[in-house]
Amino acid sequence: MKPTWIDTHIHISDYGTDGVKRDNFCQALGDLLDSSDADLKFVVSADCDYNSRILKDPSYILKCNRFVHEVCQEFPGRVFGSCLITPNAYEESLEAMNICFGEWGFVMLGEMLGYMMKFNLTDENSLKLVQRAAEFDVPIQVHLGTYVTMKGYAPNNSMDGIAQIADMIRCADTVPNAKWIMAHAIGCAPFQHYIPWANMFLDIVQGHYGCFPENFWVEIRDFYCKALPRVIQEVPHDKILSGTDWTTRIGPPFAPYGTCFEATQGQKTPYVPCVATFIDYLKKAGATDDVIELIAHKNAEKLFKLK
Ligand SMILES: [Zn+2]
Repeated sequence: MKPTWIDTHIHISDYGTDGVKRDNFCQALGDLLDSSDADLKFVVSADCDYNSRILKDPSYILKCNRFVHEVCQEFPGRVFGSCLITPNAYEESLEAMNICFGEWGFVMLGEMLGYMMKFNLTDENSLKLVQRAAEFDVPIQVHLGTYVTMKGYAPNNSMDGIAQIADMIRCADTVPNAKWIMAHAIGCAPFQHYIPWANMFLDIVQGHYGCFPENFWVEIRDFYCKALPRVIQEVPHDKILSGTDWTTRIGPPFAPYGTCFEATQGQKTPYVPCVATFIDYLKKAGATDDVIELIAHKNAEKLFKLK
């Protein structure tokens, strides 16, 4: 029997990076799910093309979430929705949340892309929407830059992880009943000249709270990350999720599940991309079979109330 594996961080789009509509999107996604070495389940949000459309036209907030809803309906019990919003379009975002969580059964808010959509989680509109997510009892997935490169860094860009976690913690302390997912906090890059933030994220959370908070979860993006043994040792095992940031930017046929994020931008995935590889990395990092089961699916099932 295939092991169950829930990935909580997947971006999908029925438009290619060239802007061309993919009419065979669901067929291609189904092929990927069926051909995996695991019983794969995804929590998905809209990707790429939709993000830039939302910036120009807030009516795309509901449109992109409707696309996600339609994909979820094609794959009941296998694909679950995450609601993409931007607090800068408050009314459209609130409406999308009410429909996604109130009617469509979405399980998460996010990914919250403050660097791209130009907002802070402590903005007045953000605080109101985060409070609304807390009322729906869905976790909020917050983008935290995974690593920094000396050439790529600029304040407020995607790599500015320390400013991003500071913003997230300020918001978490203001809305204490919200649940938080530290998106791609544990990871690295498939190239040499980078500094991963993983250890520093763990230090900041430990330093600020003195322990790992009850309402925080941490995503492992890259299972070959050097910080993985520390995560297994220090983070409560019921607080660890698998969220690889896999996207549908390549294809169809899409890149194999497990292909690392940067492979969409010309880098090579430095391992055989499949679930067996991830399980192997977890074992080498000291995870027991029981802990692997938690990270593979049980923590996600509980957090998203999937069973
Ligand atoms: Zn992200």
